[in-house]
Amino acid sequence: MANPNRSRYFKEYCEKYPRRRQATLEKYRAKKRAERDLMRANRVLEIREWCDSHPRATGTFCRLWKEQKLRNYREYNRKYRANNLEAVQEIERKYNEEHRVDRVRNQNKYYEKNREEIKAYNRFKGRVQRGKISKPDSCEVCGAEGKVFARNCSGWSVDFDSYVWMCSSCMGKSKRKD
Ligand SMILES: [Zn+2]
Repeated sequence: MANPNRSRYFKEYCEKYPRRRQATLEKYRAKKRAERDLMRANRVLEIREWCDSHPRATGTFCRLWKEQKLRNYREYNRKYRANNLEAVQEIERKYNEEHRVDRVRNQNKYYEKNREEIKAYNRFKGRVQRGKISKPDSCEVCGAEGKVFARNCSGWSVDFDSYVWMCSSCMGKSKRKD
């Protein structure tokens, strides 16, 4: 049976010997810390062993986890940008101002490298602007309505006519695939 005076004695003891009490507490905390560290170390070992014996599942988990992490980052960045739009735009403007030379040089490099591709794409854009090619209102892949972009998987300079109109999310998916 529990002693009803226990908590009173304990309180008195604590008041009478505060340093002893402190020492006991520290010992207890150190013990708990050691236990926790050991538990974590064991857990890490367990997980490592499991991963070593299940390489394929581990690969899948790692991929899924990376994807989730990326999604979280993107979501966070999107929200942050929306909430601090003016500050972010100011930073971007400053950055662009400082790196104008780099940007122009990169653009020129890109143009030199993809000259044929860009020319072919500009021909396509011209046709769209002149109304020779009609732009649909919805994505040809998933059918979502809204803004659509033309994508040509085999390249504009290679095959001018095999393009698909896609929404931005389908575009992202198709780009990640190849
Ligand atoms: Zn779509």
